[in-house]
Amino acid sequence: MSEKRTEIGELGEFGLIDKLNQSIRIRHSDTLRGIGDDAAVLDMGEKVKVVTTDLLLEGVHFNLSYMPLHHLGFKAVAVNVSDIAAMNAIPKQITVSIALSNRFSVEAVEAIYLGINAAADHYNLDVIGGDTTSSRSGLVISITAIGEVEKGREVYRSGAKINDIICATGDLGGALVGLQVLEREKEVFMADPNMKPDLEKYAYVTGRQLRPDARMDIIHELRDLGVVPTSMLDISDGLSSELFHICKQSKVGVLIYEDKLPIDKQTFDTAVEFGMDPITCVLNGGEDYELLFTIGQEDFPKLEKHPDVHFIGHVTEEKEGRFMVTKGEVAVELKAQGWKHF
Ligand code: ADP
Ligand code: MG
Repeated sequence: MSEKRTEIGELGEFGLIDKLNQSIRIRHSDTLRGIGDDAAVLDMGEKVKVVTTDLLLEGVHFNLSYMPLHHLGFKAVAVNVSDIAAMNAIPKQITVSIALSNRFSVEAVEAIYLGINAAADHYNLDVIGGDTTSSRSGLVISITAIGEVEKGREVYRSGAKINDIICATGDLGGALVGLQVLEREKEVFMADPNMKPDLEKYAYVTGRQLRPDARMDIIHELRDLGVVPTSMLDISDGLSSELFHICKQSKVGVLIYEDKLPIDKQTFDTAVEFGMDPITCVLNGGEDYELLFTIGQEDFPKLEKHPDVHFIGHVTEEKEGRFMVTKGEVAVELKAQGWKHF
């Protein structure tokens, strides 16, 4: 009898994690949340600690032909801080593990650490350890971040309630559009190494791809305003996919409005130039590292005038499904899509 073989692509990333999760048993009562949110949540008495980890692989998550090493170091930290922010927590420590092939020099590793240290400064973090090893296939960086928040103020994906307002920070789709620009310029550059690409026109979108900044500013502002979101996560895999996580874990539906979706003008224009639909970039583009959260109606006045929080729709009953009202006032069903590596 032949052994059963299921392709990972059949399950997808989330299907695979769900399947693995079924085989995992939680043994300690201070593990308040294991797999399934942006970070795990551990009981510390008055506070909870939140822990998250992310793995970045050369050739899959970044391409060194256009990603400067110090930006890579900063980004590797920022994407973890973003997951800590998504729990409404403050990051405090990180560990950094790297695998290097002999292509990399001491100076190259120092350049990566220039970015890591800049991020540690920016987010007020201590680098407390890690691991270093050799690799046969380029560069790998894995960072684990630890944060904390008073117990009861941590925010899960599962707390959205019917009629809550759905909020998104910043603008969306830029990182995906920036990636298209960088990929195109790489090809032009490889065809003619003397041709120096002029990226000035695309500075904002390429910056969104190369230098994401986790929205800790929003976490501090929410605290100052006395707002605790009912649910929250960071937008790393695309708005649609993140909305689906809220729907699944909170057992609700969502209704969003196309004309409320935040998109930057350069993102819009560049998407059109590349023959992409700007709204598809907003819904399915990855790596924006903005925050998606829901608030109770009573908190709306506190955030109403915030220049960087956008009210994109509201939470509905689960049976009402997941829809977007287009500019033409047609309700279309959202698709999960997202940013898949498989
Ligand atoms: P995010 O996009 O917020 O970083 P992911 O989609 O990567 O979250 O992960 C979703 C959840 O699955 C998280 O709780 C994460 O810790 C968990 N997870 C991912 N991969 C694994 C794995 N190989 N084993 C156990 N848990 C995992
Ligand atoms: Mg996340």
